[in-house]
Amino acid sequence: MPRPIHATLHLDALTHNLARARSAAGDARVWAVVKANAYGHGLNQVFEGLRGADGFALLDLDEAQRLRDLGWRGPILLLEGAFEVRDLELCSRLDLWHVVHHEAQIDMLAMHKTHAPHRVFLKMNSGMNRLGLRPEAFRAAWSRLNALPQVAEISLMTHFSDADVLDGTLQQRQVFEHATADLPGERSLSNSAALLRLGACNADWVRPGVMLYGASPDHPEHSAAHWGLQPAMTLQSSLVAVQQLQAGDAVGYGSSYMAPSAQRIGVVACGYADGYMRHTPPQGVPVLVDGVLTRTLGRVSMDLITVDLTPVPLAAVGSVVTLWGQSPQGAVLPIEDVAHAAGTLSYELMCGVAPRVRKVLGS
Ligand SMILES: *Cc1c(COP(=O)(O)O)cnc(C)c1O
Repeated sequence: MPRPIHATLHLDALTHNLARARSAAGDARVWAVVKANAYGHGLNQVFEGLRGADGFALLDLDEAQRLRDLGWRGPILLLEGAFEVRDLELCSRLDLWHVVHHEAQIDMLAMHKTHAPHRVFLKMNSGMNRLGLRPEAFRAAWSRLNALPQVAEISLMTHFSDADVLDGTLQQRQVFEHATADLPGERSLSNSAALLRLGACNADWVRPGVMLYGASPDHPEHSAAHWGLQPAMTLQSSLVAVQQLQAGDAVGYGSSYMAPSAQRIGVVACGYADGYMRHTPPQGVPVLVDGVLTRTLGRVSMDLITVDLTPVPLAAVGSVVTLWGQSPQGAVLPIEDVAHAAGTLSYELMCGVAPRVRKVLGS
């Protein structure tokens, strides 16, 4: 029998969350952001659940190729554009739209030989200072692109750094609108946080990512339940051992946990080699055993974690452990709650699920 840890992907939840994105987007078209192997869920696995999107946005050329191999004929956008001139050949061959965020990418386009001119998304650095042309350089870049025979159509985009807080997009939106006021072309704005909190912000295309997978982008201010999102992944395993501790007994590497009194603990087939976070606070992080909320104890090791069984006295070897997502008993442990307790984000936990964790399709 394989190790009991596995990730169940809920296709119905993906479809539901996409519909939520669509209703928040109004008339704007929806890119399903599926970078990083669909935020760790598996691109091939999520495709059926998200194929109602207007397009797919990602970074890696091999993921774009996989989408075409799955039969997707619609738009695909490379969110970081080309990394070298050769990438543009694949853009021509697979009909990929791509971001231009730097002058060097315009140079590459100018050198590229193609019969089919490309659709590009010119990206503005409106204040985040990672990718994009500064507002004062934007118009010149647009004109240069517009003069290239390799370019068919130019759309305009920017990315928000603070969409998860009140008024966090105001300044960037002003900068973007001001610097693009008299330029033609479709606009793309709004990650999940902006889309849920503000809608499409007058854009033609929105770019939700994490919300499609059922996590709230502005947790802990708002939960996934608040936004009507359903978890698309359940990480589940089971107890492979139970230990009865006496007062003073230590648990795990470094003996970092010591039982204050007699206590039953469970040993779960899940560790950091499965993508579970190694750094957990002394008070542990939440986990469900047989659908009952409890917490981890002691250090997370490569293949195992230990959990308090005090609230679940009937738990035994084989009891189901829900690391995040939906328990068979119906209780839900939001991935954001687990991430928050460990000082990280749902994004990191999703993306970190290890290849050795089996992926199973659920409903
Ligand atoms: C990842 C990404 C998104 C999606 O962000 P979420 O917070 O997951 O919704 C949107 N736009 C760009 C440019 C991105 O890189």
